[in-house]
This record gives sequence, C-alpha cells and structure tokens, in this order.
Amino acid sequence: MNILHKIIGLSAISVGLSACNGTAVDSAEASVLATPAAAATPSAAQAPAALPPAPMGPADFIYNGELTQGGWIRGQVPARTVSARLGDQELTLDESGNFFAAFDRDICSSVTLSALLSNGTTHDKALSIAPRKWNIQRVNTNRGRGRNLEAYWKKREPEYNAIVAARAKQTGAQGWKQEFIWPVKGRISGKFGRQRIYRDEPGSYHSGLDIAPGNGVPFVSPADGVVVLARTGFSIEGGLIIIDHGAGLNSAFLHASKLAVTEGQSVKQGQYIGNVGSTGRSTGPHLHWGLKWNDARIDPLLFVGPQ
Ligand SMILES: [Zn+2]
Repeated sequence: MNILHKIIGLSAISVGLSACNGTAVDSAEASVLATPAAAATPSAAQAPAALPPAPMGPADFIYNGELTQGGWIRGQVPARTVSARLGDQELTLDESGNFFAAFDRDICSSVTLSALLSNGTTHDKALSIAPRKWNIQRVNTNRGRGRNLEAYWKKREPEYNAIVAARAKQTGAQGWKQEFIWPVKGRISGKFGRQRIYRDEPGSYHSGLDIAPGNGVPFVSPADGVVVLARTGFSIEGGLIIIDHGAGLNSAFLHASKLAVTEGQSVKQGQYIGNVGSTGRSTGPHLHWGLKWNDARIDPLLFVGPQ
C-alpha cells in the first residue's frame, strides 16, 4: 500500500463515520488517533466475553448515560445473555452482565443493542441517539496540506503504527466500571467536536477536550487502567500517554511536558501520570484528553460532568 493510499484510506474511514451529517473527518488530531481500515472492523476490537450466561438479570436491557452523539451508556444485559452487541460491535460483559458502550460523534440517529440468549433467541433494543449542534466554522480558504506528504509520512508512519498497536491492546483493566474524574481541572480551551469546513473540504473535528490549567501542572489518571503507550517526541501529540480502561475504553493525553508512567504499568484512578505541556503540534500549554470506546469518540465533558 503506498503512502497516498494510506492517507486517503484514513479519510475514507472518516467519511464513512460521518455519513450522518455529511461532514468528513480527516486530519491531524482526528485521523492520527483513529484506527486504520484494517483494524476498523469493530467486532475485531473486542473479543467476546468468554463467560457463562448470567442466569439472573433484568428482563430487558437496562442502561443509563448520555444518549447523544459523543455520549455513552453503562448498563446490564438481559438475563441468560450469552453475548451482546451495540450495532456490530461486540460488548465486553462482566460476570453480572454489566457493559459499557458509546456513540461516535457522527453516529446516525438510531442504533440497536442486541443480546443473544442461551435459548438461541435474540433480544433487541433500539436506541435513539440525539443529534448535537457542533461548532462548525466555514472558512474561505483552501485547506492547508503538508507540502511533502512522502516526507511527512516517513516520520509519521512509525508513530501512527505505535498508536494503533497501543490501542489494540486488551489489558483486562476494570476502570470502565468507575465514575471517571477530571485528569486536571482548569479553563476549557477547546471543546469536543468543533470543526472547520474549508472552501474545498471539511477539516478535522476536534477529537477531545482541551484543558488549560497552566504549564507544568500535574495531571492524573481519570480511572484505573494500564498504560499502553507513554512516549515523548510524537510530531503531533508530543508527549503522549494512552491508558486502557478495559472493555474497549481508553484515554489519550497529548502534549505532556513530562511523563510519570511507563508502558505496561497499572495505574489507579487519581494517580499522577504526567505534567501538562505544549509539546507536539500545540499552540500553548494544555492537556488534550481524547476518550475512545472502540472506534467511537466520546465527548469527555459528557462523561465527567461539571468541574
Ligand atoms: Zn485538543
């Protein structure tokens, strides 16, 4: 596969995800942390839970959360569920049938929770997902592209591959069951989902939440997890930490000035993991916090509540 195909391939995935509002995603922060086509098969991201069906449990799916684009739910599958999905994505179930799932920024208005029961029947529950009004800026200039894609990709490809490999790791972390806390509190300098549409094409949307507490301020893990990537010097992300919280849920922290954890390390909720900085492609000191469930990007503001 040549460079252009790879880069175009990324855009194609993004366009696929954006089918509901017609605005494509393709960029730096968005596509960098996206999963490539080969790994995009959602059911491949999470192995089915190898657990016996829970005999006790509710008669129907129960859940609560934010049923909106960029939102999420926590819930429990019906009694005697063997396996369950959201759309075509397999859910990780614990021994009581608890699960976590989320809705991409560009998800369509409805998606189905589906359980396979031990008697061979399926139990479906349609969810309607409220659309959101995103901050879209139309600008009358052409989208600036790197002058030299080949040179760019030469540096970028190993970084990209490291991120994809980290995100593919399944650590069995249990943080997905916790109420998340803020990694650090401070002024919100960039919200999730904002996007520029250039004269000729849509730019990336902002794939996380920017928090600007000041340069060098320590930040913590928002939930229990395992560090699947902790490296400095990424051309876009700078100092980057990715923490797997289990069940397909992970956090990425960008632009750190200092990393206080190493790959493979288990971390607890509230544990110091790094310091806010302005490394990589950044216009000032801030922590970019990206949250993903499989391929769905979650709005952290919907997840942690007010500061
Ligand atoms: Zn950001």
